Amino acid sequence: MGILIYLAKRWVAGEYLEDAIERARSANNRGISGIINHVGEHNEDIAEIEASAEEYSRLLDGIKQEKIDCAISIKPTQLGLMKDVQTCIRTVDPLVKKAADLGIFIWMDMEGSAYTQQIIDIYKHLYKENKNLGLAIQAYLFRTPDDLKELSAMGAKIRLCKGAYREPADIAIKKHCDIKKAYADQLEMLFSEGGLERIAVATHDDELIDMARQLNNDHPRNFEFQMLMGAHDKRKEELAGEGYKVCGYIPYGKGWLGYFLRRLNEQKRDIKTAMVCVLKGD
Ligand SMILES: Cc1cc2nc3c(=O)[nH]c(=O)nc-3n(C[C@H](O)[C@H](O)[C@H](O)COP(=O)(O)OP(=O)(O)OC[C@H]3O[C@@H](n4cnc5c(N)ncnc54)[C@H](O)[C@@H]3O)c2cc1C
Repeated sequence: MGILIYLAKRWVAGEYLEDAIERARSANNRGISGIINHVGEHNEDIAEIEASAEEYSRLLDGIKQEKIDCAISIKPTQLGLMKDVQTCIRTVDPLVKKAADLGIFIWMDMEGSAYTQQIIDIYKHLYKENKNLGLAIQAYLFRTPDDLKELSAMGAKIRLCKGAYREPADIAIKKHCDIKKAYADQLEMLFSEGGLERIAVATHDDELIDMARQLNNDHPRNFEFQMLMGAHDKRKEELAGEGYKVCGYIPYGKGWLGYFLRRLNEQKRDIKTAMVCVLKGD
């Protein structure tokens, strides 16, 4: 248990938003922007949904007051999607508008495939009026190339990640090397064809990071690297030193340990990766 707590503290900021803001400040001091997420998902209860929205609202105020270079990242099932799409839109819209007034960007995480279509629909609806909003898209889903074409056509802002959930073989690529190839193909399409207003390359995979740099040389785009807090810290600083925008994803909240354990359970490979990281002092 001791090693898990040690690892978790490396990957999550702590229980309170002040902890997250401190981590973001420390990232800023190293030339890295923050993306703060209040851990939580699958809120069924309206009181929990409202409490989560209130927490994000306080977080926006905190970021503004403390003058931190930081976005936030939200999960739709945390903010009303467990009720329905309309509840989620009603909950998220005021947050996005408040963030816009404060000059803060909001990312919507992508969740399991049961929610993919609804989350894309929510994003499209909100993005019409709110340009300070980005959406995560998962390279491992078969549907993703079509989604990316549609989102590019509307000038969306997209974070491309490999995908973190266990999905069935009839809708998602299963082999790691094939997921990486799909990611590379999608990245190439996004850079070469244009259309997106912002591309976030969310990976710790050095080959894909190098590929994004090369693609950006050939087709300069508004793009940034995104990585998790506590992961690949040296690489983040090198990239920031080269002038790239680099963001660290900073989760916090009272459920941090449970969140961390769930993530390890969902993706056991992360245990090995995290331990290698700690041992390498990276
Ligand atoms: C900022 C950010 C936001 C994300 N948002 C979402 C989302 O909304 N929805 C979603 O489904 N998934 C999300 N993910 C998770 C993502 O889909 C992958 O599951 C995760 O990033 C692992 O894939 P990878 O490409 O980073 O590296 P992998 O393919 O797992 O590994 C490639 C190499 O990267 C290194 N590496 C990988 N992970 C780590 C780590 N944690 N610490 C240190 N080194 C590591 C290792 O050296 C490894 O060999 C997000 C990831 C990031 C970084």
